[in-house]
Amino acid sequence: MKPMLEVTDLAVSYGDGGRTTTVLDGLSLTVGTDEVLCLLGPSGCGKSTLLRCLAGLRRPDRGEVRLRGEVVDGVPEGLAVVFQDYGRSLMPWASVARNVDFGLSRALDRAERRARTDEALAAVGLADVARQRPGRLSGGMQQRVAIARALAARPTLLLMDEPFASVDALTRADLEDLLLRVRRDYGVTVLLVTHDIDESVYLGDRVVVLSPRPARLVADLAVDLPRERDQIATRGSDAFVRLRTLAAEHLRAT
Ligand code: ADP
Repeated sequence: MKPMLEVTDLAVSYGDGGRTTTVLDGLSLTVGTDEVLCLLGPSGCGKSTLLRCLAGLRRPDRGEVRLRGEVVDGVPEGLAVVFQDYGRSLMPWASVARNVDFGLSRALDRAERRARTDEALAAVGLADVARQRPGRLSGGMQQRVAIARALAARPTLLLMDEPFASVDALTRADLEDLLLRVRRDYGVTVLLVTHDIDESVYLGDRVVVLSPRPARLVADLAVDLPRERDQIATRGSDAFVRLRTLAAEHLRAT
């Protein structure tokens, strides 16, 4: 099967006055259809830059990105992004439902948009707060709204940039399980950036470890755990501990 996403020989530098910072220099990566790929890398290595290229928000200096075989040149169809900073990604004056609806194409009629919004809010367990403003909800619930907004668009690829980094540990575990459920029910391909080794193994079908800038691929680990994950049993299993140790060793060696 053709990969969902193909990144080939990507290079990006930022120019700042006389100084040039090379962030990506020949990075290649593929993500298979229906796969959850977790990208693990040190801070500042270029993960967000990579996501910006994938989302069509930055044109690479060299190389190309293909989504379902099509070269990405501008914001592609079928892609949704969830950022860490849920607070800033939601419109505080609009209801939760309106925030979700906002992500939908105006080409859809109102009834279809309403149906998709209701379905996405139900999928993240927020049907009861559809009429509330996001500011009245906890951080974890606001991040659920952001996830619902992404899902309502029925993306084929979901990009997530440290999406659970600013919530407490219990909420984080809930959101991780929500993502796995949603992935199973919606069949969406996910590329998730995290700096949490355990999270990358818990969520991923594959974990890719990147080097410091310019980001190189230093390891590509297949996560051979049962597809159904459990916060206690999975994280306590020998296979999990082996994989998290391996990922940590690769990250430390970078
Ligand atoms: P990561 O997400 O892995 O932390 P980023 O892609 O955000 O890494 O950043 C990689 C490097 O590029 C960092 O050193 C950062 O300071 C620099 N950088 C990011 N965006 C810009 C920009 N718009 N202009 C100049 N430098 C940038």
